[in-house]
Amino acid sequence: MSATKTTTRTKAGKCPDHGDVQGEKDFPVASWPLLAYLGRRASAQFKPYRCPQCGKAIT
Ligand SMILES: [Zn+2]
Repeated sequence: MSATKTTTRTKAGKCPDHGDVQGEKDFPVASWPLLAYLGRRASAQFKPYRCPQCGKAIT
């Protein structure tokens, strides 16, 4: 099996260093087993979007 597939979601936000940026976050693609996917998706939802330039959490 290869690594977990993810898709990148973006959202506009503010980076403490770069100001207005398009934040990025990896989101798991639906996969089997479903329970593992749901767990990954739930944890991804609680992770912050990150600045594509420095990786800091945006607000
Ligand atoms: Zn930044």
